[in-house]
Amino acid sequence: MLGRKVDFIIVGQGIAGSWLAHELIKRGKEILVVNYETENTSSNKAAGLFNPITGKKMTKTWLADQIFPALENQYQELETLLNKKLLHQIPIYRPFNTIGEKNEWETKIEEPGYLNFVEKLESESIGFQHIQDELGGIILKKSGYVDMKLLISSFRDFLVDKGLYRSEMFDYKAMEFVSEKIMYKEIETSKVIFCEGPNKDNPFFNNLPFKPVRGEVMDIECGLPEDYIINRGVFMIPKNGFHTIGSTYDHKNLSFEPQPEGISSIKQRLSKLFVGPYRIKDKRAGIRPATFDRKPFIGLHQERKTLGIFNGFGAKGVSLTPFFATNFVDFLEGKTKIETEADVQRVY
Ligand SMILES: Cc1cc2nc3c(=O)[nH]c(=O)nc-3n(C[C@H](O)[C@H](O)[C@H](O)COP(=O)(O)OP(=O)(O)OC[C@H]3O[C@@H](n4cnc5c(N)ncnc54)[C@H](O)[C@@H]3O)c2cc1C
Repeated sequence: MLGRKVDFIIVGQGIAGSWLAHELIKRGKEILVVNYETENTSSNKAAGLFNPITGKKMTKTWLADQIFPALENQYQELETLLNKKLLHQIPIYRPFNTIGEKNEWETKIEEPGYLNFVEKLESESIGFQHIQDELGGIILKKSGYVDMKLLISSFRDFLVDKGLYRSEMFDYKAMEFVSEKIMYKEIETSKVIFCEGPNKDNPFFNNLPFKPVRGEVMDIECGLPEDYIINRGVFMIPKNGFHTIGSTYDHKNLSFEPQPEGISSIKQRLSKLFVGPYRIKDKRAGIRPATFDRKPFIGLHQERKTLGIFNGFGAKGVSLTPFFATNFVDFLEGKTKIETEADVQRVY
């Protein structure tokens, strides 16, 4: 086959490549997605949680005020396109650890910066059997989970249907750089954008300071009501009949196989929050494409401006990728700068 011309080849169709492809199609660009299909991707293993207030100290996550107000509409737009239920909006219940923490939240809840994200403060236990929450807790909104596997598979079907998808490992050596264009096999393109997740083999971007991190999650049946994601030490995400529990962080053993120490760490933290019986349905592990400063790598190659990268979304692919797909495409259209902290130029 000769002579196919596209504006962009996107390499990789995890959540990053999917959002970027969607945004480019919306802007009328011709694209082709080249993706190697395997179970072992970051998106296939993720729990899918999105949460504006995170960490032990419960602070607003990076860019929360810009990202979270738009997030639900963005996923709903994709749901309409794909005719699938992807976004599950569920409040997070975070039981207090200490009286001090409770007192702190009694003042913090009034702060304007938190009003958008906090539903209410429960000053006593909410009464879920086997949940350890004697001091009550805080209920957060603008949170929930995205069905990542369904998103990836149904967006792939959409691309295949439109003739915009190729199932293959991208062959870096097959690129020919011809003036302002790239020939990739029989296809001429203006740019190739790599959305390869934790793959380390890309010769054009393998010197970037990625800091990949393995994580485990497990699915359990525990009979808890499904009104809340419960989060303290671990998260428990209700997913229609079971809960996904996670997770772990290990920079050393970068394996896609769940490790015994990872699973026992989840169990041990779970036992402090939930003291009832449960049955494990599934355990899985994946590698998060994290970076040295926990911010993504977005932008064009230092020398070859026909190559770009959209990667490094670490533990926050669900919330960061829709926002940054818009930001990156705006940049590619010459309308704006890439958000400074995410711009790959910071490491060149
Ligand atoms: C255990 C675990 C739990 C997580 N939980 C959450 C969570 O609750 N919330 C959240 O927001 N994030 C979570 N994450 C992080 C999230 O999974 C990542 O941020 C996100 O999936 C990264 O997506 P990606 O598209 O960059 O990479 P990937 O999903 O890995 O996709 C990359 C794609 O590119 C393909 N590819 C790579 N190289 C090539 C090539 N050369 N040619 C062709 N194709 C190629 C791969 O096969 C793959 O299909 C979790 C991660 C793990 C491991």
